[in-house]
Amino acid sequence: MWLCLDCGKETEPNEELIYCPNCGSDGVPADTSKRLNISITWHELRCIVMWAERWASSSSDKKNSERLLRVVYGIADRIQVQHLDQECGLTFASELSELRAHITGTIEQNVIREIDPPKLPD
Ligand SMILES: [Zn+2]
Repeated sequence: MWLCLDCGKETEPNEELIYCPNCGSDGVPADTSKRLNISITWHELRCIVMWAERWASSSSDKKNSERLLRVVYGIADRIQVQHLDQECGLTFASELSELRAHITGTIEQNVIREIDPPKLPD
């Protein structure tokens, strides 16, 4: 199967397919037959994901930045659901969300661009 990194939809491989049939993305899909298991600590993974999140957020092109962030968040979500036993999320946005849920008042930050949460496919 091909996995669209923009929307998370899996489709049958088809060499004639140019765009994701679900979201229209022209990004290169991931081949799910090439999934692998790696050994890494949650903290190491958080570092990598947060650096990617920060990099995606830093693009001066807002539309491109938001697309890149959705890709990072989609990947983080797919990893997160495999490890629901972890005490915290993989992204700065998830940490921020947890803080906001527990603190009264406004929390402002200038670390990442904030976007609406990505919608996972059914
Ligand atoms: Zn898609």
